[in-house]
Amino acid sequence: MKGIVPYKTATGRELKIEYNFNIISPEDVPTDKETFSQACKDGCKNYNKKWSCPPCSPDFKKMKHKKYLLLFLLKINGKDFSDCDEWMKVKAINAILKPKVDKIAKSIEHKFNGYAYISGACRICKECAKKTNDPCKYPSKLRYSLEAVGIDCNKLIENALNMKFCWYKKNEPYEYGAVIGGVELDDKIGSSKIENMILNLIKV
Ligand code: SF4
Repeated sequence: MKGIVPYKTATGRELKIEYNFNIISPEDVPTDKETFSQACKDGCKNYNKKWSCPPCSPDFKKMKHKKYLLLFLLKINGKDFSDCDEWMKVKAINAILKPKVDKIAKSIEHKFNGYAYISGACRICKECAKKTNDPCKYPSKLRYSLEAVGIDCNKLIENALNMKFCWYKKNEPYEYGAVIGGVELDDKIGSSKIENMILNLIKV
């Protein structure tokens, strides 16, 4: 189910946030932990520096799951930042969408006794205890991103949401930015309940 909602940033920029969601079975989630851990190792500064990230994060296929996975995506068109260069668009869109995805995932987790997947690395502590090789300070609050547990997010959103990511490429227009999150659930929640929560939390 999808829709578009107008949104005004703290700096007064008016834009539109598109949302899309679907409920699938965890069994249908495409994964390749080895490949995506290697990609993190090759290209991410958080590799082996956070308990939420590879190689410390678990393999989705080996985790215990609830019955359903609510997958949701938020998207902003690059045209809403036409006064910015392409790399600035990436940064600005991520800065808006990532906290919203985390808020939506954690709120739905809280309300429906779910289990959330956030956007990117855990940001609960200023400095992750992994940096000093100490145990995670808040293991019950630690949540992983869908990528960190080895999910093939390109395939996932193509299969479940009929969408594609637009990856930043130098000297090419950045058409849109999208961020995904998820919540495992014991029961299927009605689409209108999910949509209302997403709409209310986007505005916050
Ligand atoms: S809760 Fe703190 S110590 Fe644990 S993974 Fe998150 S940032 Fe690291």
